[in-house]
Amino acid sequence: MSAKQIVRKSDLFNLTGTGPKPAILPVYKDYLPPCNQSCPTGNDIQGFLALVREREFKKAWQKLVINQPMPAIHGRVCYHPCETGCNRVNSDSSVSIQQVERMLGDLALNQNWSYPQITEESGQKVLIIGAGPSGLAAAYHLRLAGHQVEIRDANPIAGGMMNYGIPAYRLPRDILQAEIKMITDMGVKITLNYKVENVLKEKQDGGFDAVFLADGKFVQGYYDYDSKKAGSRTVSHLRFGEHLIEAPWMIERASFVGINQFNFLTKFDCLEHAEVGATVLLNSPYNADDAWSQLPYAVQQQIITKKLSLYVLDAMKVAAETNMGRRINTIMQTGFFMLANVFPQQEAIAQIKHSIEVTYARKGQRVIEMNWNAVDHAVSATQKVMVPTTVTSLIGIKETITD
Ligand code: SF4
Repeated sequence: MSAKQIVRKSDLFNLTGTGPKPAILPVYKDYLPPCNQSCPTGNDIQGFLALVREREFKKAWQKLVINQPMPAIHGRVCYHPCETGCNRVNSDSSVSIQQVERMLGDLALNQNWSYPQITEESGQKVLIIGAGPSGLAAAYHLRLAGHQVEIRDANPIAGGMMNYGIPAYRLPRDILQAEIKMITDMGVKITLNYKVENVLKEKQDGGFDAVFLADGKFVQGYYDYDSKKAGSRTVSHLRFGEHLIEAPWMIERASFVGINQFNFLTKFDCLEHAEVGATVLLNSPYNADDAWSQLPYAVQQQIITKKLSLYVLDAMKVAAETNMGRRINTIMQTGFFMLANVFPQQEAIAQIKHSIEVTYARKGQRVIEMNWNAVDHAVSATQKVMVPTTVTSLIGIKETITD
């Protein structure tokens, strides 16, 4: 409810008193505060900030770690969407929530505060595969619930992407290992250099009641872009894998190619680096029945020769139908995760929706639902093209002026 609705303008001709008068009383509703709503770990931000204000630092830390066990780490490397969500950005600037979190995390390490010792065991055993942030957080919460927990990880150092993906100048390794030690001090066992090959066998052999898979992936996001004023393009070289990525490189043989603009097909050799059997997703104004005849000759030839699987998605149409205007990023991203087999499809869609919820928390539920709707539409609008065995096109690729 806006202030305009609440306050009636004063009527100078029928004056009965001074100043504006409330016409409608505000209705108070109990919602999550915007900072809390924006925090991916669900920290009770107002709760721990209130205790810090009272200088009750240990209680503030205890309140903070109800939700997540690594405040010194989050306080350094989280991209702090809580601060983007903070209401104060509309008046001056946001509260420095992340710095307060870091201070509490560091204080706990300096003062040797510890997580609660478990007094009541549940008698259940859980195996966690992967000692990255997800596995460690799961271990903490499962241990708090009284379960016996063992983490097994193929790498020689615990921490997953926090150790292998974040540079040490952003996350000092002594801080990382100190917070991991606080979790092992609760009784969580971590076995390193242990690659789990057969999950069911490990579960049975170890007498575990449940297994939590947190094996994660290593990712490269490497972008090659030009800065021409017109006709520029960006090529994203993405790699996902089970093994540590030591250095980024340009991809020469891609198992997936996404083309965000149909007219790129007549300007660039978009499929040059597609490997045999790769999947191609094309933002196309033509549906699966009509798209083939609109492809240039050389593109048809590459699709047939390399045995590519071709999918079309009319991202502009989906954007228009879901009130997204000309914004097609979320839509093409959905198509990518549907087809690229990086994660199981259902999980990928759920993650995209969660990310939308966090990113647009400040813009309100309407914007979040609009984006969710676009995701659902993108899923149903992605179509497979039946590729003929012969090239039929007469459309050529235009000569481009090189740099
Ligand atoms: S810094 Fe990150 S983890 Fe910490 S409260 Fe903000 S969003 Fe949550």
